Amino acid sequence: MDAHDMEHLKDLLLAQRREIFRCSQDLAADWQALSERDVEKEEEAQKADLSCLFEQLDNREQEEIKEIDRALAKIATATYGSCEQCRKPIGLDRLEALPATRWCSGCARRVEEQQKMPPVLP
Ligand SMILES: [Zn+2]
Repeated sequence: MDAHDMEHLKDLLLAQRREIFRCSQDLAADWQALSERDVEKEEEAQKADLSCLFEQLDNREQEEIKEIDRALAKIATATYGSCEQCRKPIGLDRLEALPATRWCSGCARRVEEQQKMPPVLP
């Protein structure tokens, strides 16, 4: 991977980061507007639903931001683009599709399979 590719992938990561923040800000604004309104009893349930949804989205988005920041930190320390499992370079195609990925496609598949495995009984 050359400096030009690195710059391009960094732009992709920063764009993703901006996108997540913009989405969550829109949602936060809606949530704010709703909670400021006087809410009738029957609307309480709806409000609780939205709160739950917001929290879920928020957690997922926080995770995404963490992964993106991790990748950006790796760009800063010039360790970006190598698989964290096998240390081999990750394909540029894969990085373009998933710039925040930590693993090459082979290791990602293994990690996914491990996560799907039922817990081992004692
Ligand atoms: Zn790997």
